Amino acid sequence: MKKSTPKQQQPHSKTSRRYKSFRNFARIRLENGAAVTQCPKCKEARQQHSACPNCGYYNGRQALSMEKKVEKITKIKA
Ligand SMILES: [Zn+2]
Repeated sequence: MKKSTPKQQQPHSKTSRRYKSFRNFARIRLENGAAVTQCPKCKEARQQHSACPNCGYYNGRQALSMEKKVEKITKIKA
C-alpha cells in the first residue's frame, strides 16, 4: 500500500495552533499539580487514586495506618 502524502504544505499558524493546545494542557496540569479530589470521609483535599493524607482512608478502608506516621515524626524530632 502506498503511503499517502499531504496535498498541501500546512501553514505555520495551523501547526503552532495545534501544538499550542498541547502546551496549554500541560501547563494547566502543572499549575494544578496532580488531579485533586475531596475525601469522602473527612472532606479534605486528596490526590486522585491515592490514600487521603489526613485520615489514611482509600476505597472505603484504612489504607494508611496513621499511628506509624506519628511515630516516624516523633523519631525525627527526638
Ligand atoms: Zn480523609
